[in-house]
Amino acid sequence: MPQQQCGFRDAKVKKIYLDHVSSKPIHPRVLEFAKGYLKHGYGNPSSLYSVGLEAKRILEDARIKLAELINGENENSIIFTASATEANNLAIRGTALRNVSKGREVAASTIEHISVLNPMKELQKNGFTLNLIPVDSMGVVDLAKLDEVLTKNTTVTSIMYANNEIGTIEPIREISTTVHDKGLYLHVDATAAAGYIPIDVKADGIDLLTLSSNDLYGPQGAGALYVKPGIKLQPILLGGGQERGLRSGTENLFAVAGMGEAARMAKDEMAQEARRLKGMRDKLIEEIVTIEGAYLTGDPTQRLPHHASFRFEHIEGESILLNMDMYNIQVSTGSACSSKTLEPSHVLLAIGLKHEEAHGSMVLTLGRSNNMEEIPTIVKAVKETVERLRKLSPLSNKGVM
Ligand code: PMP
Repeated sequence: MPQQQCGFRDAKVKKIYLDHVSSKPIHPRVLEFAKGYLKHGYGNPSSLYSVGLEAKRILEDARIKLAELINGENENSIIFTASATEANNLAIRGTALRNVSKGREVAASTIEHISVLNPMKELQKNGFTLNLIPVDSMGVVDLAKLDEVLTKNTTVTSIMYANNEIGTIEPIREISTTVHDKGLYLHVDATAAAGYIPIDVKADGIDLLTLSSNDLYGPQGAGALYVKPGIKLQPILLGGGQERGLRSGTENLFAVAGMGEAARMAKDEMAQEARRLKGMRDKLIEEIVTIEGAYLTGDPTQRLPHHASFRFEHIEGESILLNMDMYNIQVSTGSACSSKTLEPSHVLLAIGLKHEEAHGSMVLTLGRSNNMEEIPTIVKAVKETVERLRKLSPLSNKGVM
């Protein structure tokens, strides 16, 4: 049994965390920077006395660091939220509802995160038309189709910078040209891409961009929306009018200060860290695709530097995840989407996989705690896991049945 072979729940077996796309541990330097604000950052940034002004200074400092990460025009272009989900909701509902006089159409790729697709579906229930733009077998948005479906009534088009399940990086500049040629707004969910590849909202032609704190090694509890100067949104949270009236509610100073510092660290260290992760990612892919019935999912070259995703014939993603955990290696699977249904991932179906193919998926996302020495251990665990599960699978000719 794997428990005995690899010491399941044995503290001596080193944990290898490979699910950085779901969440990342707060970086010690970020924690060191921000922890003081848990104790002393009680001031309300909207208050005019000194404690409040100090809180406001912390907030503005974080705003500057985020604007610098993405080359935003200035700090006023950053709106803090509590999560990337909230930023996506604000971008989509905020733009669509503010611009109903211009039209009642919204558009998104079929592989967007559910925090983009669900607010769009909600708008659809309320009379909006939702145009879904297909992707090819690598997960790249179909530019001709994009051009075809956008009309003057499309108030917001949302395409992610890179996909969290298959790692594919989208041709954002070409997408933005198509959207802007029609005089429309482009929202980009950069949750999976930020901190790994350079993002320049001005050069890329992005109107609204979502960022997540914990995806940058910042604390959980903060997200941000970049809003290009001049773009008007309807707020979705109403109250005291914080964040230029776009997101009422006292800001989470600890999380926001940490997010700012995480953004600064990402900007300074991104090139070097991406190079290091890419070397490890390439080695993982090279080894894992040698397994019979194993295939890379997503684009082989236009992909995030830390992202290696696969599908395996005749086995289930959940079983892979649980078996890998017995080796104290944490991976994720795209086979059950986060709505906790047993439906296969909408992303894998969108790239043209059949239901049974989409069920056997495994996603490995590397991060700062990983190193090249771990690669043989990971590869060995994957090979043993696949072999063990195939022996149990009635679908495989290696099965015992
Ligand atoms: N967008 C993408 C691409 C994601 O991967 C995620 C999840 N990490 C989100 C949005 C939502 O992030 P959160 O659950 O932190 O709000």
